[in-house]
Amino acid sequence: MSEMNPLNSKIIFIIGMMLWLIVRIPYQRQQKQNTIVDDRKTIQEKAIRLLLLIGILFLPLTYVLSPWLNFANYDLPIWAHHLGIATLVPALWLFWRSHRDLGENWSSTLQIREGHTLMTHGVYQNIRHPMYASVLLLCIAQALLLPNWIAGLSGFVSFSIAYATRVDREEQMLLNRFGDEYEVYRQRTKRLIPYVF
Ligand code: SAH
Repeated sequence: MSEMNPLNSKIIFIIGMMLWLIVRIPYQRQQKQNTIVDDRKTIQEKAIRLLLLIGILFLPLTYVLSPWLNFANYDLPIWAHHLGIATLVPALWLFWRSHRDLGENWSSTLQIREGHTLMTHGVYQNIRHPMYASVLLLCIAQALLLPNWIAGLSGFVSFSIAYATRVDREEQMLLNRFGDEYEVYRQRTKRLIPYVF
């Protein structure tokens, strides 16, 4: 069985990450113009962002650009490489579409802006957290493309912690703001995987 060339996988992961950051740029700019009426920017939120930054950006970059994490390398078969690329594509697409559908309502932390509207169609039609679903896909791609116990799995670990500590508070905030409208939406949708979970 042939093994993958780690260099190719590293390059593809870096390209994926660059596209990921590019998708976000216009929304990041727009976010600055919002007037915020409810801000849940707690210490916990800051810790979550730091954790994601380390797990999805810092550790993979360290692995790609330095030899420091090489002690934790292992081999992955070539199909993992192909599956990793195949996962990056829907991850990027869903990340972009959820930004587009959420529009001005997007924010990097838990916030309600002035004139906030509840999005319940597009990629929000069947799941309530398509953007988090896209991050999960990215973390799966990371594990498939980077054959390293630390840099490969850190995305998944940090996402799991971030998701588990954030999603209930986010839904509670939206429930406060939108009441029954959100309750009805919540009852007819799933969180991450349409019709399943
Ligand atoms: N959890 C969502 C959005 C992440 S961005 C997802 O995974 O797709 C986080 C911000 O989006 C929160 O501050 C919240 O104000 C906003 N938000 C989340 N779901 C929303 C919805 N259905 N309509 C409008 N805003 C929403």
